[in-house]
Amino acid sequence: MDISYILNEYAEDRDEYFRAIAPPIMQTSNFAFKTVEALRSSFDDEYSTWLYSRGLNPTVEILRKKLAALDGAEDCLVFNSGSAAIFASVLANVKSGDHIVSVRNPYTWAKKMFDEILPRFNVRTTYIDGTDVNNFSSAIRENTTLFYLESPNSWTYELQDLAAVAQLAKQHNIITICDNSFCTPLYQRPIELGIDLVLQSATKYIGGHSDVIAGVLCGGSDIIKRIFNSEYNNIGSGIQPFNAWLLIRGLRTLQARLDRITSTTEKVLDYLKSHPLVEKVIFPLDEAFPQYDLAKSQMKGGCGLLTFVIKCYTVSGIEKFCESLKHILMAVSWGGHESLIIPRCAGIKPESFNGSADQRMLRLYCGLEDADYIIKDLEQAFNVIENG
Ligand SMILES: *Cc1c(COP(=O)(O)O)cnc(C)c1O
Repeated sequence: MDISYILNEYAEDRDEYFRAIAPPIMQTSNFAFKTVEALRSSFDDEYSTWLYSRGLNPTVEILRKKLAALDGAEDCLVFNSGSAAIFASVLANVKSGDHIVSVRNPYTWAKKMFDEILPRFNVRTTYIDGTDVNNFSSAIRENTTLFYLESPNSWTYELQDLAAVAQLAKQHNIITICDNSFCTPLYQRPIELGIDLVLQSATKYIGGHSDVIAGVLCGGSDIIKRIFNSEYNNIGSGIQPFNAWLLIRGLRTLQARLDRITSTTEKVLDYLKSHPLVEKVIFPLDEAFPQYDLAKSQMKGGCGLLTFVIKCYTVSGIEKFCESLKHILMAVSWGGHESLIIPRCAGIKPESFNGSADQRMLRLYCGLEDADYIIKDLEQAFNVIENG
């Protein structure tokens, strides 16, 4: 299916709603039945009827179909956050006594779930360096049921060889889940590489305007139906119709935004690489990146996140740099219209700053502004720390 068709037409039946271009927001909690028999069969199979919007909703349905098609997946569920998608997908694939192998430093709330919630139910997680597929294979135990991947991750962008890990998992009957928030399905399609479940925070690029929190989970129809009938409806964290509508709106411009962000990021990357106050830039599609060849082979693009190490050896200097930025905002998240920065040292107590490269990292997200506008802002902030 053409991406343009998916984003603009697919799953929309305009004859159902006055030929309106924008689909309606079906803001209803429940649906009425004409016969007891119809109600009875809905109880039997909620996944194929309109019963109650914690389950299915027509506006959400349009979105689900589009997102499944983008990922090349049979089916999709949309959650009220990326974290909810992570939680439901993992919970659905473990029971007491099971073992998970996860890439080290997964998304914060995935890690909290592995470290704090799952051990209460006797599910243990081993973290490995996912850049080498052999580390997965040596971490497998008799009770391993799940591999948890995130490729690239969001500060240092380590990748996993998705096809190789998926193949290994299949040999051992292990389910694979991959967090694809960094790339979106436009730039990486893990299902086609053999991954079972792919998720992303739609808060990032799909929403794209920093005004909605949501998460996507795609996979085969059997597993998605099983999750719908259990974790999805039980946790009750499905997306609300209005937010689904905002995401459909976000999809209209997804390709255009990603293309623009990608070309801006390349320019900003070149600028940073040539700046005397920058020690190193980390970006998976930069030739200097250790896994550049793998990135090239499994990702179509790199989008807007990059990390640079600043040659500034005090917390106050790094703080001054960040606080001197006039347009690039300091905030968590990314994927919106606005460029953002976070210094690694915001996550540590100033007393424990040791000046290591790791602690001098800044994560920059390039938004939809003009490349020159972003570069000028960085330039004047570098000047502030250079001159004082
Ligand atoms: C933001 C993010 C999430 C969580 O998504 P929310 O929508 O914020 O719950 C998960 N994974 C990655 C890589 C993220 O960046």
